[in-house]
Amino acid sequence: METHQPLLTKTTFLKLLQCEKALYLNLHKPHLKDPTPPELKHRFIQGHKIGALAQLLFPGGIDISKLARTNAQRLQLTIQYINDSQKVLYEATLAHQNLLVMVDILVKTDSGYNAYEVKSSTRISDTYTRDAQLQYWVLQHSLKEPVNMHLVFINPEYQLQTSFDIQAYFKINPITITDVDSEFINQTLQRGINILQAPRSPQILPGKQCTKPYRCDFHQYCNPLSSKHGIPIPQLPVEVTQSWIKQDVKDFMDLPLLDLPPKYQSMYQAVKTNAIVYDLKFLKKWLQLVSENVIALDIETWTSPKPEIENTRAWESIPFLAAVYGQKEYSATVFTSHTESDQRYYFINEVLKLTEEYASVLVYDKTLETQTILKLGTLFPALNAKCQKLCHKFCDVFDVFKNAAVYHPEFKHQFNLKQVSRVLNPHIKLDQPLQHGIDALMAFQNYRDSNNPIIKEITETDLKAYCVNDARMTFELYNSIKNIVQSANQ
Ligand code: SF4
Repeated sequence: METHQPLLTKTTFLKLLQCEKALYLNLHKPHLKDPTPPELKHRFIQGHKIGALAQLLFPGGIDISKLARTNAQRLQLTIQYINDSQKVLYEATLAHQNLLVMVDILVKTDSGYNAYEVKSSTRISDTYTRDAQLQYWVLQHSLKEPVNMHLVFINPEYQLQTSFDIQAYFKINPITITDVDSEFINQTLQRGINILQAPRSPQILPGKQCTKPYRCDFHQYCNPLSSKHGIPIPQLPVEVTQSWIKQDVKDFMDLPLLDLPPKYQSMYQAVKTNAIVYDLKFLKKWLQLVSENVIALDIETWTSPKPEIENTRAWESIPFLAAVYGQKEYSATVFTSHTESDQRYYFINEVLKLTEEYASVLVYDKTLETQTILKLGTLFPALNAKCQKLCHKFCDVFDVFKNAAVYHPEFKHQFNLKQVSRVLNPHIKLDQPLQHGIDALMAFQNYRDSNNPIIKEITETDLKAYCVNDARMTFELYNSIKNIVQSANQ
């Protein structure tokens, strides 16, 4: 069994298949990576939790990742435990021909080994099968015994009943691997080593590979046009954007105006004049949809890979907080912890009461609010008609900004509620303990996990303040749009 330090891991091997430059930058210039979005970080944490939960399906194992820090140490330790006939290993680390893999769960059987790859997803995708082929190739060669590959993922049908049933929660699917292209793997490994040992990065222009199958970690670095004004290359045919880069265009403002879609032309004007630009026709049409009898609504939801509330499934989106904000600084909230039981009926009833007297309900990106309310309507048929009616009253303020019907150069191509509000309504304070939806989600999880009444009270106050502020920002943006139109008409 080989113990030398390999150069590629399963992750970097797959990175190489996506783009040679990404592989090089990953090793030699990791500081150039885009910042990891908080949502992705949260997803990683949840993935680790599911990995730990899946280990309970095969209890009594040794976790190699907890006993050794470097890959070389992990390799050595894994081999040691295998030679000692350890039955179950977690994060077993094995290598063959410069390729290193870590197996989530490795179980010794009478006839060989069972390997389990754990996914925190409820669906199997083709990329999982491709990953499994690489694992299989390494295990088959390094263990020199028959290996059966399996995928462990979350059963999408599983609903929590009185107590959590781990056997019903996970699904285990065997993966049949009939043919692994050893020549291809060997050639790819050699190509990877050559790239990593080269004196400089391969010269590769951005293209379709930057987002397929995953968004590349070096997206911002490779897209120099986005640096100054925050405006990325528009979604145009790859040949058009590549020709700009070949012409050494370094700035969004150096792009040929005629090539740009209308939305980008207004951004161009805003940057050029360093002033707000707007599409009066669009704004007037949008305002016609909004009644004077209007209120803004914001809803926060929580999701967990392991269901914690009876009759809910993994990753199900559970609403727990809503806030409304309207004329004369009126605001109100609905908060439900779902700690003792499922309180979604109470939640939707209260939201319907808070909004029923208004003809229009402002939201910022109606996707989440619409999905949440319609789902609650399906769950509680007696309220379905009222839920449908509420959704019909939604007026999406985000439509204005995502279409650049109002664009300020300081938006820097970011249209999220905080960024737009920060520029147009700087009087609204944003220095709250919770800054993003993901912060609210994690705070709510802490609330549920905590037994300390003081922590619970502080967290509830922070959550409500966060949600009211979002509703307020939405309402004030509506006022800003009205002011723009009124000023233009004078
Ligand atoms: S952003 Fe695109 S070109 Fe740059 S390293 Fe990533 S995949 Fe390659």
